[in-house]
Amino acid sequence: MKAHRAILIKLPKDKCDVDYIKRLMALTNLAYRGFEVWVPDLPKAIQHQLYGFRNFKGSLVFGTKPKRWLASTWVPLKTLRFYPDGSVKGDKRAPVVLDFRSSIIRIRQVCRNEHGYVVELPMPKWVVDRLSEGGDVKYAMIGLKNNEPYLALTAEREVEPYVPSDYMLAVDVNSWSHGIAWGLVKGNRISSFKQKGLNVGKIVGLYKQAIKRERRLGALKRLGLGDTVNAKRAGRLVRRLRSRAYRLIRAEAVFLARKLAKKALRYRAMVVIDDVDWESLKELLTRRYGKKIGKLLLSGLKRFVKLLVTQLQWYGVPYEFKRLYSRKCPNCKHKLTQQKGRVMICTNCGFKAPRDMVSMYWVLTPSPP
Ligand SMILES: [Zn+2]
Repeated sequence: MKAHRAILIKLPKDKCDVDYIKRLMALTNLAYRGFEVWVPDLPKAIQHQLYGFRNFKGSLVFGTKPKRWLASTWVPLKTLRFYPDGSVKGDKRAPVVLDFRSSIIRIRQVCRNEHGYVVELPMPKWVVDRLSEGGDVKYAMIGLKNNEPYLALTAEREVEPYVPSDYMLAVDVNSWSHGIAWGLVKGNRISSFKQKGLNVGKIVGLYKQAIKRERRLGALKRLGLGDTVNAKRAGRLVRRLRSRAYRLIRAEAVFLARKLAKKALRYRAMVVIDDVDWESLKELLTRRYGKKIGKLLLSGLKRFVKLLVTQLQWYGVPYEFKRLYSRKCPNCKHKLTQQKGRVMICTNCGFKAPRDMVSMYWVLTPSPP
């Protein structure tokens, strides 16, 4: 099985011609659609690259197909790799050179339309780590995101999932605190359980501040003062508060996905991930926190699942999705009732468990009666 992981590297804007990259992206879009357009003022080598990719255009490496005409499409690029042991792999004329001997990435001819133009970047630790895990970066992409130039690297690794031990790691994505809960399960025993809520309080706080500043900005604009120093400062602050909330959620998702993948590896566990009903979770979060914050939290949880799956695949951890209910009896599927002291009880079969841990019981082997 081939597993993939990707990283985005911001390119120095002063060393990149954004309009040139835009043109390359437009040509890529045409190439995806089967058109071959040879532009006289662009390097032939680069154009050859583009059309050489036509047969791979459905492959995972190049992400999703452009949805509409002239939508921005990232430019696929081959790589040439110089490994630490002196061996070399890849296309000699590839526009992206990964030099592990001097820890430098060289991008040739795709940042500016100038003969022999090269941009050099330090080799990110991420790439070295993937290489040490047996991965290889065969392809790269260049493109614009919010009008900023980026290089995307995709590492590929051939991996077979391991045969799991007796341990199972259950991951509940929609736990009571609207966070993530996980439990290590062996047979009919939960050997450890932990819960980590997304930092909802902090995110709500940041958002409220942003809304307050936004109102003040609106008032200034109505007074015709939208161009003043004060208004500009308020606008900047709103943007900063918003992106801080996003970053907070993102960081949490990255941290937890990594932590749980490591935990699974340590126990050679089989991972069971809550097969979330995203629609109803969206409703629940919207009802509780409002549309904007609800959306933000939802995107954080979705991101977490995606990151977790990517890492499990990369390290060969076997996993499956399963609905892990927290209000339904894992023995007889009867609706559970909550009792004092956060205890859930089944009036049908007598099942009883702490409220937060009910979802973990869905992966237990039922003990014989
Ligand atoms: Zn029951």
